[in-house]
Amino acid sequence: MIQVTDLYKGFRSGSRTVQVLSGICLSVEKGNTLAIVGKSGSGKTTLLNCLGGLERPDSGRITCLGTEITALNQRQMTRFRRQHLGFMFQAGNLIACLTVFENIAFPLHLNHFGKKELNRRVNRLLEALSLDGLSRSMPHELSGGQAQRVAFARAVSHVPALLLADEPTASLDSATALHLIRLMADTGRALGVTIIVTTHDNDIIRLSDRTIRLTDGKAKEENHETTG
Ligand code: ATP
Repeated sequence: MIQVTDLYKGFRSGSRTVQVLSGICLSVEKGNTLAIVGKSGSGKTTLLNCLGGLERPDSGRITCLGTEITALNQRQMTRFRRQHLGFMFQAGNLIACLTVFENIAFPLHLNHFGKKELNRRVNRLLEALSLDGLSRSMPHELSGGQAQRVAFARAVSHVPALLLADEPTASLDSATALHLIRLMADTGRALGVTIIVTTHDNDIIRLSDRTIRLTDGKAKEENHETTG
């Protein structure tokens, strides 16, 4: 589903370059969930942003669904992202002026879904994620857990092949986080969405198929028995 080969990324800070990713290689199979862990500043977000084409690596290759996305221009990447990828961030990033329903429907509008199919998909997600009563609510009226459930629904409403989630439970208490993670795992599996998630959360690590740890710019597979 996604292969990363020899990925390098650094940021210029004054006269020096901070090398964040130094030859990352990894691959993820379709339908798997991969957790990316590592100390603060180890490059988890930078890697995720490269995978989603939000950040350009300095060198290396990323192939997703058979397309070398590192070779796409900005316009081609935008189209690829809209069709095949879903994103979730630490703090919802919902569109403040749209209702819950409209937020979840947003990627479906972008992908030109018809009204009937759009309504069907949004209503199904509202129900699956226990958001039925909130479809007309505005983002500022939601609790943190509700907002993240809406963010997840929005990220998967167009059934992307790959969901990239950047510390999706970081702003939640542990019980709410666990509820969200279980919903994400179950819904992701039901839709056949591959998930790559950066996290410090042991429950996410436990529920993932694999974990890689970023250290000194390199990715190392973790033994799952020892991570939980
Ligand atoms: P955290 O767990 O705290 O979210 P992280 O592992 O996700 O951290 P990144 O956010 O990827 O780490 O940052 C890795 C390094 O790259 C940090 O030293 C950060 O300061 C630097 N960095 C990230 N983005 C930029 C940028 N746009 N410009 C300059 N430096 C950056």
